[in-house]
Amino acid sequence: MTAGSVTVIGLGPGDPRYLTPSAGAALAAATDIVGYGAYVDRAPLRVGQTRHASDNRVEVERARFALDLAAEGRCVAVVSGGDPGVFAMAAALFEAYEADMARWPDVVIKVEPGITAMLAVAARVGAPLGGDFCAISLSDNLKPWDVIVTRLKAVLAADLVIALYNPISKARPWQLGEALKLAATERPADTPVILARAVGRADEAVRIVPIDQAVAAAETADMSTLVMIGASATRLIARAGELPFVYTPRSVGVRP
Ligand code: SAH
Repeated sequence: MTAGSVTVIGLGPGDPRYLTPSAGAALAAATDIVGYGAYVDRAPLRVGQTRHASDNRVEVERARFALDLAAEGRCVAVVSGGDPGVFAMAAALFEAYEADMARWPDVVIKVEPGITAMLAVAARVGAPLGGDFCAISLSDNLKPWDVIVTRLKAVLAADLVIALYNPISKARPWQLGEALKLAATERPADTPVILARAVGRADEAVRIVPIDQAVAAAETADMSTLVMIGASATRLIARAGELPFVYTPRSVGVRP
């Protein structure tokens, strides 16, 4: 039997218009769609496709399942929100694959990029990622909290703009507050912090607050929120009746 394929597909932040044509074509070509239920539901329906929705926690198991289906000759799409390589399924797939490569000798593996949350958030508010920046997942499910704190301190000292993914959940209620308190000790009090929830979806909500008010504002954050902490050079441009623009100049210490 000819082996099939696994394509790990980024669906973008939520608005279907942000799905790339290439990712859309890969979805349409799939015989099977595998992923966390909420993402599987976002893939446009096509007759004849089989959908395999699963819980969000069992990523490596889900990856093995997708590879097994492909070994049977199926054309499998594994879906992730945003970009599949950013805190998502693509790395889980390679982890499963590397641990047992002989089991899927002929399966073709591909990754289709998507617009990751921090890029959608950045575009919504202006250009906060115009200078150097980094992304950190605040979830301590997959790494110890002290590793996260060490990394946060390092990037705060380096004066990078910081995109915090997975900032908070019911099981992790205090970590975001700790991270913002730490940031507030290292950055000027008026440094902008963006709290952007469900960007590109019907329930989108974006707030911009100075860092000394960020801990209080973070009470509204949830699992669909991305928190972006400005660098010392990140600036606001006020606008009547709208959120200000936020941008970080490209130049540091030289005249543009
Ligand atoms: N692969 C995804 C990230 C998965 S981690 C991507 O590239 O975007 C899940 C986290 O992403 C959430 O906790 C939140 O911090 C962020 N996120 C995903 N979609 C978002 C959206 N539409 N608006 C704001 N944040 C989002």
